Amino acid sequence: MQEFDYICLGGGSGGIASANRAAKHGKKVALIEAKAIGGTCVNVGCVPKKAMWFGAQVAEAIHLYAPDYGFDVSVNAFSWAKLVESRNAYIDRIHQSYDRVLGGNGITVINGFGRFISNHIIEVNGEQITAPHITIATGGYPIIPDIPGAEHGITSDGFFDLAEQPKRVVVVGAGYIGVELAGVMSALGSETKLIIRTDKPLRNFDPMLSESLVEMMAQHGPELITHSNVTHVEKDHAGTLHITLDTGTTLAADALVWAIGRAPATHTIGLDNTDVNLTERGFISVDEQQNTTASGIYAVGDNIGKVDLTPVAVKAGRLLSERLFNGQHDAKMDYSLIPTVVFSHPPIGTMGLSQPEAEAEYGAENVTVYNSSFGAMYTALTSHRQLTKMKLICVGTDQKVVGIHGIGHGMDEILQGFGVAIKMGATKADFDACVAIHPTSGEEFVTLT
Ligand code: NDP
Repeated sequence: MQEFDYICLGGGSGGIASANRAAKHGKKVALIEAKAIGGTCVNVGCVPKKAMWFGAQVAEAIHLYAPDYGFDVSVNAFSWAKLVESRNAYIDRIHQSYDRVLGGNGITVINGFGRFISNHIIEVNGEQITAPHITIATGGYPIIPDIPGAEHGITSDGFFDLAEQPKRVVVVGAGYIGVELAGVMSALGSETKLIIRTDKPLRNFDPMLSESLVEMMAQHGPELITHSNVTHVEKDHAGTLHITLDTGTTLAADALVWAIGRAPATHTIGLDNTDVNLTERGFISVDEQQNTTASGIYAVGDNIGKVDLTPVAVKAGRLLSERLFNGQHDAKMDYSLIPTVVFSHPPIGTMGLSQPEAEAEYGAENVTVYNSSFGAMYTALTSHRQLTKMKLICVGTDQKVVGIHGIGHGMDEILQGFGVAIKMGATKADFDACVAIHPTSGEEFVTLT
């Protein structure tokens, strides 16, 4: 049996980051991945999604904004196939770069599906390997509903396999993925409907964000269909999908995308043969240092049900290796105040508490909220004006910033720097003390009154 110091089961963001950090500390590391290296983020998540979103941005620039900037543009065609080809070539380069880094760090990459056969033995490709430390970084997978005809729909995984642009698309789901994929398809010219169960998508975000998104969707699409559930789906001989809602409406579409959430990939990796416990919802139970209930087995990433974001998995994976292999015994991931962006149209940036959360935690009388609403300058000289909205949530007499939220052009790039300030404990006075960069959207956050 081959022996390693450390095994990472899952070659996605968390597993790769943790493996590389362990190897840098001189450990003999194996990384097991059944599919393409890079996991969800690189292959069927953040990276291809952002590539499609950039494609959508180009489409918006040409169709909505170029004419008023004086460009007489006529577009002969949009080739979905070309965009996919460019995207895939980019992803291939990322794969090569991962191979170089993992190889350079002396990590043994095993392409195969690993299964625990006991606490510290994993079987992969018919061989057994062992290590005193094993991290489970198997991520998650998109779920589909249990309704007749659900199999006619695809998930985000299938979306990235689409060889042709569907003319009519129905996307179901009110989270990040539903909003992002529906926005991309709509901006690229597909007739797109987003079906949600309640009155607005992203309903756990600050209400300003979700309500503004609804307003902006009403202006430019996708078409939002609220208070609706899909009851069944049929496919006719021509390949058209007929999607029936509980309101009685039936929608015809060329593609149906389920974006109703993701489940942890924990059920096929032999955890029954270990002392690793799962939570009621099937996530791996971990403590604040990523320890599972089995000694020497850890978990990071989307399979622990905390914050399903690539940079969170990366940070948790690295900190775990620092703790295990570099003597940083107290190292642990801080799951508070994590900045995040939804690549909607326009993008949403958000960090910390929403107004309802802040009021519940600190009492409404201790919360001060600053709002700003303006037309993004990029669009202001065109006939397609787009609103930007920003909000700062402060608490106490020193007005410590506990929440920052924005929707608008450039918000995806604006948030990161403010995230540093907020993580350092910035107050409203600290924000005000910073001179504005003019003219930008970001300056609004330091001039709020
Ligand atoms: P989410 O769990 O975030 O959202 C799915 C939503 O769909 C639910 O919140 C729910 O909203 C709705 N829903 C659930 N079940 C049904 C159903 N049966 N019928 C209709 N609607 C349903 O999942 P996603 O798949 O969108 O994303 C998973 C995670 O991946 C995200 O939470 C995020 O952490 C991460 N991610 C991050 C991205 C980024 O950083 N930009 C991009 C993409 C994903 P409701 O209850 O309101 O109906």
